[in-house]
Amino acid sequence: MSVNYAAGLSPYANKGVCGLPEVFDSPEEVKVKVETLVQLIKESEYMVVHSGAGISTSAGIPDFRGPKGVWTLEEKGESPHFNTTFEDARPSFTHLALLGLQRAGYLKYLISQNVDGLHVRSGFPRDMLSELHGNMFVEECEKCGRQYIREKVIGVMGLKPTGRYCEVIRSRGLRACRGKLMSTILDWEDALPDRDLNKADDASRRADLALTLGTSLQIKPSGDLPLLTKRKGGKLVIVNLQPTKHDKHAHLRIHGYVDEVMKQLMEQLELDVPKWEGPTVCESSTATSESSTTDIKPSKEKVKKDLIKEERKREATQLTEDGGVKEETLSVKRERADSPVGINEEK
Ligand SMILES: [Zn+2]
Repeated sequence: MSVNYAAGLSPYANKGVCGLPEVFDSPEEVKVKVETLVQLIKESEYMVVHSGAGISTSAGIPDFRGPKGVWTLEEKGESPHFNTTFEDARPSFTHLALLGLQRAGYLKYLISQNVDGLHVRSGFPRDMLSELHGNMFVEECEKCGRQYIREKVIGVMGLKPTGRYCEVIRSRGLRACRGKLMSTILDWEDALPDRDLNKADDASRRADLALTLGTSLQIKPSGDLPLLTKRKGGKLVIVNLQPTKHDKHAHLRIHGYVDEVMKQLMEQLELDVPKWEGPTVCESSTATSESSTTDIKPSKEKVKKDLIKEERKREATQLTEDGGVKEETLSVKRERADSPVGINEEK
């Protein structure tokens, strides 16, 4: 079935600022800035990366607010162009570089707004990843919280039942859980998943370096998480072609293609970039690869054009003139972090 991400969401008026002109640093500027970034990474003890749709455009999946973005085109009454399906999309250079940074110990936690599943399918350890807006390939039991990662997109959005049931066998008997499986993709008004959000919040507070890649940081609360790092005395580095909501808070801004920035970064760190050998799921960063890694067979059938949509509700706030962040927002976040972890825990 075709999954048009945008069409699958409720109508929502405030999608933020779309279609801002892209800014390009000169090749010399990019080189010097990447050198600075490499230095910051080497000095950091706990780097957190925040990824947005901009890291998947080179994989053929349109972003939302770029010049050809889903919402930008929607404003003009046009449709986005897909160069792939979600099932056929391959992780971009940036996805694989992030895996390399994790394996080398530089990257401690990854927070993504993307729903395309490419971080998980690239083999990035799921226990070091928060997918704040869901994953097109993941469905979750509403009863016991077990998640199922599928080869094909789930095809349902907005945390709705997928029509399948949980097959977990309960410990005290042979009876299966049989809870309803639900889509993990958020619609605009849906709350973020507690477990992922709390882990992202904790990592952001602990971090001494926040690196944002391909996100305009307009969606709350995801886009505000990097500011928690800054408030704790850490540094913020933004890599994006368009201006972002929090540019003025950045220690360093790099206006270049994320793949090019990551290529230079990996070269300077003298790190290998893992090769893509098909969809793979790694559950844990500590378990052996044998026991924690599962190959997912590439899907045989092509699903039609799927559109990703990754904007969850969180009101897409307007870019303010000073890029300021309201204090209340961060207060609310703190309360959330202190609240009990809920929906994904075993009940
Ligand atoms: Zn279950």
